[in-house]
Amino acid sequence: MIVFRSEELDLELSFSCKIIQEFQKYRQTGSKLETGGMLFSSSVNSNIVEIDLISSPSNSDISRRFQFIPNKRSAQAIIDKNFENNYHYIGDWHTHPESCPSPSTQDLKTIKSLFIESKHDLTFLVILILCQSNDFKNSYVAFANERMVYRCEVKAS
Ligand SMILES: [Zn+2]
Repeated sequence: MIVFRSEELDLELSFSCKIIQEFQKYRQTGSKLETGGMLFSSSVNSNIVEIDLISSPSNSDISRRFQFIPNKRSAQAIIDKNFENNYHYIGDWHTHPESCPSPSTQDLKTIKSLFIESKHDLTFLVILILCQSNDFKNSYVAFANERMVYRCEVKAS
């Protein structure tokens, strides 16, 4: 398990080995295109949020070398279906071909507008940028609302 923590918010995000394993197949290695999906949790009411479920890209998403645009309609269908099973949408993930990714200006704009546009009861949404290397700890993880983005650090275990 790997835990990312925002000291400022006193909020933690935990990823099980199973989820980390699942992310491995999406790493943007070689000449692969950017890809992405969504993050879900069944425990959103504490200061430790566990990511229990991630969605895979859908065929209607747009993947380019440096861009990933999810199809809004299919994303909403996945959110609704998972909600019925008590998995709450808490944010998005996408890949970068970087060993220690950092968000683009567009990434930061996108997460802020997602916070405003999507239906949720959360104080923050999560943005995860999956690193290219096989060390999940190098991924970029942050909490964001309509104004601010709070980067998380890996919590020493
Ligand atoms: Zn990006």
